Amino acid sequence: MTSDVKQERKTVLIIEDEDNLLAPLTYNLEREGYRVVTATDGGEGLELAREESPSLVILDIMLPTMDGIQVCRVLRSESGVPILMLTAKGEELDKVLGLEMGADDYMTKPFSMRELLARVKAMLRRTELSPASTDGNAGGVITSGDLSIDVEARKVSLGGVPVKLKPKEFELLTLFAGHPGKAFTRDDILDKIWGGKDNIDRRTVDVHVRWIRQKLGEGDGAPRRIITIRGHGYRFEG
Ligand code: CA
Repeated sequence: MTSDVKQERKTVLIIEDEDNLLAPLTYNLEREGYRVVTATDGGEGLELAREESPSLVILDIMLPTMDGIQVCRVLRSESGVPILMLTAKGEELDKVLGLEMGADDYMTKPFSMRELLARVKAMLRRTELSPASTDGNAGGVITSGDLSIDVEARKVSLGGVPVKLKPKEFELLTLFAGHPGKAFTRDDILDKIWGGKDNIDRRTVDVHVRWIRQKLGEGDGAPRRIITIRGHGYRFEG
């Protein structure tokens, strides 16, 4: 609880061109203890994201130079940083929600600041699941053979080649790789990654494991890091 690392402030990047939103967002997030960096257009936001490696990005859709949808796509292709989209009513919500976009959550304007802060907190909590970032080793890299997971930067590579994982895939792989040899039930995993098992099908876990295996080149017949334990769940073998 009192380690220096825990007290280190997380950086939130806000990309929003409306000052009447940017100012209160900045104020409230700083008051919650976050370090806040801001950009007022898409291109600048993307540059800042690369420079600052923020823990979370709040991203408006309607932006000068490059809209939030493009920014989201590029960001997602480069890192697994959690992205909270801000949308106006009637804006391309279908695109925001579409899987290919890769945003983790969205809020429709006008929204309550309290609700936004709660979402930010929840999103950041989900990224803290791995022991590498909770045991005082923030910025830690988990390695297993040629697999490397940079927990803080949310980047995964295999033999030095970047692997693009969606946020939930990243969190799941980090959970597994952070606990090699530990058996997880599907319910454990739903609790830890999806925040509960009540409204989610257990097969969601299986589908995500399949996607991760494919992305790690561990499809049918190939040796696997994530082992299926019949009648139980999964285990990561380093
Ligand atoms: Ca805007």
